Amino acid sequence: MQLLISTTHQPATDLGYLVSKNPDRHQTFDLAFGTAHVFYPEATLERCSLALIVDVDPVGLVRGRGDADGPLTQYVNDRPYTASSFLAVAIAQVFSSGMAGSSKARAELAASAIPLEAEIPVVRCRAGEAKLRACFEPLGYAVEVQPLPLDETFPDWGASRYFHLRLRGTLRISELLQHLYLLLPALDGDKHYYVCSDEVQKLLDKGGDWLAVHPERDWILANYLKRQRSLVREALGKLLSEPEEEVESGEREKEASEHQLERALSLNERRMAAVEEVLLRSGAASVLDVGCGEGRLLGRLLEHRQFRSLLGIDVATTSLDRAAERLKLDRLPPMQRARIDLLQGSLTYRDARMAGFDAACAIEVIEHIDATRLAAFERTLFEFAQPQTVIITTPNVEYNLRFANLPAGAMRHRDHRFEWSRAEFQQWAHGVCERHGYSVEFLPIGDVDPELGPPTQMGVFSR
Ligand code: SAH
Repeated sequence: MQLLISTTHQPATDLGYLVSKNPDRHQTFDLAFGTAHVFYPEATLERCSLALIVDVDPVGLVRGRGDADGPLTQYVNDRPYTASSFLAVAIAQVFSSGMAGSSKARAELAASAIPLEAEIPVVRCRAGEAKLRACFEPLGYAVEVQPLPLDETFPDWGASRYFHLRLRGTLRISELLQHLYLLLPALDGDKHYYVCSDEVQKLLDKGGDWLAVHPERDWILANYLKRQRSLVREALGKLLSEPEEEVESGEREKEASEHQLERALSLNERRMAAVEEVLLRSGAASVLDVGCGEGRLLGRLLEHRQFRSLLGIDVATTSLDRAAERLKLDRLPPMQRARIDLLQGSLTYRDARMAGFDAACAIEVIEHIDATRLAAFERTLFEFAQPQTVIITTPNVEYNLRFANLPAGAMRHRDHRFEWSRAEFQQWAHGVCERHGYSVEFLPIGDVDPELGPPTQMGVFSR
């Protein structure tokens, strides 16, 4: 399978700097499934073309696999020839700096949109030519598609599901590589490796800023994730929960002045920092993180010796697995390991394991709980677990107006059951205090809009 990338931006040979590959050399790279070759069929100041050819080892592919499709299909198939997840993996491995947009020698060029062309001789797309166009055209490409005949000697047999694809556009090299990296496997609809939660992270890393608003977003997600509904839901949730970040980075470009450092922090980062600070000031030695998700807060707390005992609880085992991975639980030295634990549990049931902590936090959790279960959540935390300090954060729905890419009336995340205004959150919080003998203080997180308030609201409850 092959990919040809060309530019007419002059001097065209600077393309070599953008992907860290010298136009004068033919290079080869070992991949898990074969070999990648990189060379330049054309390298003049006016036009430069870079070829990536991936030579898949068909016997290597078969090793260790069952023969569910029959023994012959293992050896005779289209995999070595069509653009697919093999090509995507090769792109990521061979052009990692180009895909990240980092070029030591030509940093400015890497950040600039330049005329680029990508040619892929064989792309499989069962969904047809229209889908190929629908995937690339919204990203600004002029798309040339040529259906390949099923068999050249028998033209009557008609067209196959394979296409010759040529894309032309003015964009950054990192954008072109990211588009190919995610879209080629999605169009192909097959993956040569096991698809798990890591794939969601790849989607967010490579598609975070263009996929969320792509008109074919749902189709791309479903096909990239091999139609695994739970992963698709997870990816959608994460993609759509980031409007905060997009708004912030938009603002950052406009006002690169005094608050640069503060603005450089994403809202999520600021949320974690705010909670961490309250916990440090509270003097708590033991902290319960309910709805801990992937353990982002726990990871930060582990850095402070003040917190001698940390427990994360979540209902989702996939999140807990990811938290264990992020926190490297199996590699922590024994003293550190003894300070932290993760447990599966629900916040809407009384649970003795949650009792006895100095502080508890529920960061961006209550909005995921059905309104009818909220009373049960309240009792679990404030009546039974009864920590000295409770920190709760939740979106401030009023601020949603500031998210340019969030349709009016939509919530920030698919799984949100509700989003509260400041008055609604405060009313609920005061009720909690009355019912369970706490007092509460409200603190803003993120840049406060004079009319709409902060993007995130935080209640710090004390007993
Ligand atoms: N606190 C984390 C994750 C927020 S997402 C962070 O800020 O990064 C909300 C989390 O709440 C998810 O991980 C979800 O699995 C969990 N959750 C939702 N309802 C729950 C319930 N009833 N019991 C336990 N966890 C729940």
